[in-house]
Amino acid sequence: MGVPKKRKSKSRVGHHRSQWERKQKLLQLVSCPNCGRLILPHHICPYCHHYKGKEVKV
Ligand SMILES: [Zn+2]
Repeated sequence: MGVPKKRKSKSRVGHHRSQWERKQKLLQLVSCPNCGRLILPHHICPYCHHYKGKEVKV
């Protein structure tokens, strides 16, 4: 069954889209200072296992 077109008001959709943009910004990637690849911020690099300039042993 389809969802009625007027179920969500324009302001509600606008709010939802603004929150979606906020989430996208949280997923920004940074480049690893050791190997230069794109990694998640505040995480150990999965390629060279470096974090804060040191090698981390897993
Ligand atoms: Zn790296």
